[in-house]
Amino acid sequence: MLPCSLVTAQRPDSSEANLVPLPLSKARFVLMLSENPFLQPSSLALLAPDFSKIKHEHYLPAFEAGMEEQLAQVQAIANTSEAPSFENTLVPLEKSGEILKRVQAVFFNMSASNNDDAIQAIEEKIAPRLASHSDDIFLNKKLFARVEVLWNKRSQTDWNEEQQRLLKEYYESFVRAGARLTDEQQKRVRAINEELSSMTTQFQNNLLAITKERAVVVDDIALLEGLSTGDVAAAKEAAQAKGQPGKYLLAITNTTRQPILLSLANREMRKRVWLASANRGLGEAGGLDNRPLVLGMARLRAERAEILGYANHASYTLENQMAANPAAAMKMLRDLAPGVVAKAKTEAADIMRFMQADGIEGEPAPWDWEYYSEKVRAEKYKIDENLVKPYFEMESVLQNGVFYTYGRLYGIQFKERKDLPVYHPTVRVFDVLGADGKQIGLFYADYFQRDSKRGGAWMDAFISQSRLLHQLPVVVNVMNIPSPAAGEPTLLSLDHVMTMFHELGHGVHGLFSAVEYPTLSGTSVPRDFVEFPSTFHEDWAIHPEVLANYARHNKTGESIPKDLLNKSIAANKFNKGYETLEYVSAALLDLGWHSISSKDAPTDVVAFENELLKKFGMDYAPVPPRYRTTYFAHIWSGGYSASYYAYLWSEVLAADAFAHMTKLGGLTPANGAAYREKILSKGGTREVMQQYKDFRGQEPTVDALLVRRGLQ
Ligand SMILES: [Zn+2]
Repeated sequence: MLPCSLVTAQRPDSSEANLVPLPLSKARFVLMLSENPFLQPSSLALLAPDFSKIKHEHYLPAFEAGMEEQLAQVQAIANTSEAPSFENTLVPLEKSGEILKRVQAVFFNMSASNNDDAIQAIEEKIAPRLASHSDDIFLNKKLFARVEVLWNKRSQTDWNEEQQRLLKEYYESFVRAGARLTDEQQKRVRAINEELSSMTTQFQNNLLAITKERAVVVDDIALLEGLSTGDVAAAKEAAQAKGQPGKYLLAITNTTRQPILLSLANREMRKRVWLASANRGLGEAGGLDNRPLVLGMARLRAERAEILGYANHASYTLENQMAANPAAAMKMLRDLAPGVVAKAKTEAADIMRFMQADGIEGEPAPWDWEYYSEKVRAEKYKIDENLVKPYFEMESVLQNGVFYTYGRLYGIQFKERKDLPVYHPTVRVFDVLGADGKQIGLFYADYFQRDSKRGGAWMDAFISQSRLLHQLPVVVNVMNIPSPAAGEPTLLSLDHVMTMFHELGHGVHGLFSAVEYPTLSGTSVPRDFVEFPSTFHEDWAIHPEVLANYARHNKTGESIPKDLLNKSIAANKFNKGYETLEYVSAALLDLGWHSISSKDAPTDVVAFENELLKKFGMDYAPVPPRYRTTYFAHIWSGGYSASYYAYLWSEVLAADAFAHMTKLGGLTPANGAAYREKILSKGGTREVMQQYKDFRGQEPTVDALLVRRGLQ
């Protein structure tokens, strides 16, 4: 299972920002002061947002007031005549921007989980303003000069580890934004940022257009053999909507492989669909061509990194990640490649048996894989989901599974309370109490699917823990569980069950945070570490003691039969060779594109891909990369450049840590206490590899991951 998309606190990142001055009329500022709930701290428990008062019209004025307030605070710090000290520079920076933080935390949560046209319009307006606001802080030369004085004397001070980490965060944020460059260099970086920002938009727009362009239109219904009647009807409607009545339109989406390939029986049709997907953006037959765009973006990112003093964009991006440098991330991919390719080849052998029965000889083509692997699955792991689901009734999973596990490990309790206002009637609120009965924080659970919510699952914080700001954590978990029919129980799939455990893993990373400074709170850790606590907690969902406690039939109360459970778990490991290989080869392309230098940038996209995959032994034709370069939105427009590897990196840690804990007795308070103290309470106050070694006694290896994914 690929990890969720965690929404972390909005950290300033000016790397691809436009610089726009901040206009704000005085009259408007005065007007909005009346009754805007963001302008003062909430009066509710733990500063929880007062959703009974928050309205759409409060957001923009609060953003503007918040930016104005923070800018004034920052300028006051920069202009002070006292010699720079930790207390007169970093502490007030940490305290600055209260209004902005308040409105950001609520707004971006609503944008993700309770969106509408008005919220979207506000977001479009405010996103570039926030980027330039961040530049206004991190390109402020006077302010940087003060931080630099502190940086240069850091070894002669008695600042503790957390203070040293905070200084490092600030110093690096300034340097990485370009604060140390000459005016000439800064000018070039700003120009590159602007160009990249418009190329990013161009890439996104192209991809939308390409998706339409690549749809496969079919005249003859016979070619759609294998599709359900519902799918056929939808294809017919889609064609009708595009002005082609009587025909059938198959849309192309997202990854190289296409969900529809699972059921299309006609091999020529499968080939047509697959080629339409895999050639997206390659300008085939006069179609849209993304090649010049991605070549240009890769070259500009390389140039910017070089100006900032790095060998390449990947070195720049990974510098403050756990991997620390591209070579370490590459090594993980290189170490995994042989085992993963071997596993995919054994999966291919199973597939070929079914192909032969259809009279097809030789290796599967990429358009055959899904169709025939579905037949293998049906033979090996025939499970009726409807037999499993009654054992996973949502309330029992939550109370007797998730809360039970976290209670056993950490001695905490979740007590529902109904007095706090919520942003949607299905959202629930729980007090999180320690073993001593003392309040640790608040936990909001927003589990049900609705149209106004983005897909997937994530965690976020309304309030981040900080001793400096006297704040306890207020966190939220969001999922997309379909609502049951009226009067019916909510029965979950095993996948949803594991996601619930996963998200509360992020949740306790926020809840157990025990830090002084908000910048270092909870999940403010590198991207390749942040999915570690969440993925680690997933595996408790199938731990025998935990299952025995929650997986009971919703009508009879009987425990889930062992063979049914084992089959479900085995089915979860099915096709992992294919899934892992398509993932690691995409991660390799990402690192490859961001390891080039601007002087000898590639000129041929497809040749570059092919050479790279071959060099790393990942050129196994039946399993192409999950994304090819010309439609790899994560890395060109999704903020994951040189970071796609991070999901698997975190999973290596999760598997290694879980295996370690299992050896030490599994679900015990002692294990929970160690994990909480060494990892979950630390946030960004200690270097993350050090945190890991503190807990584990050594660096992680990939061995446990191979077992977890059934690759050994
Ligand atoms: Zn996650």
